[in-house]
Amino acid sequence: MPFERRVTRKLRVGDIEVGGGAPVSVQSMTTTKTADVDGTLAQIYALAGAGADIVRVTCNTVEAAQGIAEMMPRSPVPIVADVHFQYRLALAAIEAGVSALRLNPGNIRNERHIKEVASVAKAAGIPIRIGVNAGSLDKDLLDSYGGPVPEALVASAMQEVRYLDEVDFHDIKISVKHSNVALMVESYRLLADTTEYPLHLGVTEAGPPPGGLIKSVAGIATLLSEGIGDTIRFSLTADPVEEAKAGRALLEYLGLRERSTLDFIACPSCGRAEVDVIKVASEANERLEALKLPIQVAVMGCVVNGPGEAREADLGLAAGRGRGHLFIKGEVVRVVPEAEMVDALLDEARLLAEQGAEARLAAADVTAADLAAEERLELISIQGDANRSQERRQAVKDVAGAEDSV
Ligand code: SF4
Repeated sequence: MPFERRVTRKLRVGDIEVGGGAPVSVQSMTTTKTADVDGTLAQIYALAGAGADIVRVTCNTVEAAQGIAEMMPRSPVPIVADVHFQYRLALAAIEAGVSALRLNPGNIRNERHIKEVASVAKAAGIPIRIGVNAGSLDKDLLDSYGGPVPEALVASAMQEVRYLDEVDFHDIKISVKHSNVALMVESYRLLADTTEYPLHLGVTEAGPPPGGLIKSVAGIATLLSEGIGDTIRFSLTADPVEEAKAGRALLEYLGLRERSTLDFIACPSCGRAEVDVIKVASEANERLEALKLPIQVAVMGCVVNGPGEAREADLGLAAGRGRGHLFIKGEVVRVVPEAEMVDALLDEARLLAEQGAEARLAAADVTAADLAAEERLELISIQGDANRSQERRQAVKDVAGAEDSV
């Protein structure tokens, strides 16, 4: 595990463990009317396919709660009911067999009602997320803290924790979401210092991509790198499938979940590029994504630096003079005409996923490495060595006053 994780209590949302060292899970929320059972289930399936471990649906009407009852046996992932204002709808969602509840302490404020929901949830064996949101914070707390500051968000969450503790309810996870990234980070840090309950991370109302993605990554990744966070949600103004994909990808890029999908890397291009890198990379990325292979693939604009810089990639393509060089773990295995290079990359990706790197290296075209080396030297002689390695060796020798032994 790349980051030391904060120790939290463990709970279960359906068959997904949250906290206590369980893998960080990805959540998203449907945008359909929950009463539309088939439409909502179709979206839940799409979200699960994109990497969501848990899906939240709104439970804002009796019909929505009835919809939950119908979809629970058919859902591929646990469902969380999102309840605001009407505690009776929380009771209805439990009756519907939901896997967990999310309550907003800013709008379900009656202590007796909260405790009643917790007691029924305890009997049903389901957890509750205390979902504090800076935009809907309790007015009394806003007044006493002078605004939605981290201390106010944490106070709201801990007040709700006390109500639940008083009825011996401890299957709790907590979120203190803010739309301001810096305040969101501070709120969660403060909360992590205050409680051992698992935390659900998110930047609320992050907006559409790319801004929403950047805000979410900034807030969530900062906390995850500090070991804080047990489950995450990107709140994007976009198709929720994008939220699930982004959440899953973030965890994989941070090494917190195993790679299940393509990790596509590409150089940013520069004056050395022998092809239009943006065009080639976009086409390759789009076609590779459709294959859903759990490998890392690189597209690099030149053979001078590409294979070396992307030597850690499972598979790569670097552009030479009218040709594409395919390489596996930095070793050139095939050189193909430029017009065929993206097709060849896709073929090699499929074979690599099926047969593994060793078999594909063993099947390499024996002439490819020499051809690639020749072409690389030719380009260096035309363009110069980007890393100025010969020049630098000479400079090092001059400074050290030593003989160059190589
Ligand atoms: S791989 Fe080549 S084209 Fe791409 S950024 Fe590096 S030097 Fe430039």
